[in-house]
Amino acid sequence: MRSLCTLFVVLLLGIASSAQKPRIIILATGGTIAGEGASADRAAYTAGKVPIEALIKAVPGIDNIADLKGEQISNVGSQDMTIGIWQKLDKRINEIFANNEADGIVITHGTDTQEETAYFLALTVRYDKPVVITGSMRPSTAISADGPKNLFDAVTVAADPQSNGNGVMVVFDERVFDGRDVAKMNTTNVDAFHAPNTGPIGQVYDGKVMYYMRPLRSSTKNTPFDIRNDKELPKVGIAYMYADARPDAINTFVREGYKGIIIAGVGNGNFNKAFHDAIADAIKKGVVVVRASRIPIGRVTLYDEIDDKALGTIVSDDLNPQKARILLMLGLTQTNNKEALQNDFFKY
Ligand code: ASP
Repeated sequence: MRSLCTLFVVLLLGIASSAQKPRIIILATGGTIAGEGASADRAAYTAGKVPIEALIKAVPGIDNIADLKGEQISNVGSQDMTIGIWQKLDKRINEIFANNEADGIVITHGTDTQEETAYFLALTVRYDKPVVITGSMRPSTAISADGPKNLFDAVTVAADPQSNGNGVMVVFDERVFDGRDVAKMNTTNVDAFHAPNTGPIGQVYDGKVMYYMRPLRSSTKNTPFDIRNDKELPKVGIAYMYADARPDAINTFVREGYKGIIIAGVGNGNFNKAFHDAIADAIKKGVVVVRASRIPIGRVTLYDEIDDKALGTIVSDDLNPQKARILLMLGLTQTNNKEALQNDFFKY
């Protein structure tokens, strides 16, 4: 009788502890983490081949951390990421949290444009439950594939209640980054992600997360940007500045009806006379022009070597050009007012 009672208690505890596991939904988009090669070296692999169920199966112990469900949103190398896939992700994430289907979300994603997806979602998801993006630098068939460990760490972070309020994050190579500040900084190494201006907000190791700071500028919960009904976002292009650059890209963007242009300037968002004249012309035609920099560290500041007031430009603060493009696209869904758009760049 006593052993029956003990068995009953053990069963009850078992049920209670499995009921307490956080519910995590993994949204898979493709990338090298789902990549497959013919051999164990890295050469010649195809990104976005392996389905999400197989990725989860390859991570021993992952289902001890959370109750997991997987959904395939897309299966592309992230060089083929589109605004359409971002909108699909944004819609599904907002829906999951609105219906209380999960306590946290993990997104598997190629590394090439991961920082862009992270910032787009940081600006458009309307909940402050954790959304954690990860990927890998080596395909699943490579020696020392980094995907399983990154996925394990991402689920660890998404399942930890301390992550609530941090919004969209990237977890990679045992570091936790704010989705706004993270950038891919290495073309091939597994230590590919850094936040060059701010550093990581935490570390994840051995199934535990340690946070050292909270992101201030991620807007997730109170975001003003709502693109759920927007079929298309305003077109914004990036023009890269270099010694003796011609302004052909700027002129083409204007001709093609772009609403905004980001200048990947030299130094503190500087450009030459040819760019200056083309920019002045674009602004006269109603295009919003933002000065960013091709330098990965530091801010672009107003009224330094360029008189923004006279020219009509605004600045990206410390957003790199590809992230500045995302904020300008979203900002332009709301206003064309330059002062308001400049405030966005100082706020988000
Ligand atoms: N080209 C791949 C991608 O971004 C690279 C990777 O995932 O590491 O999908």
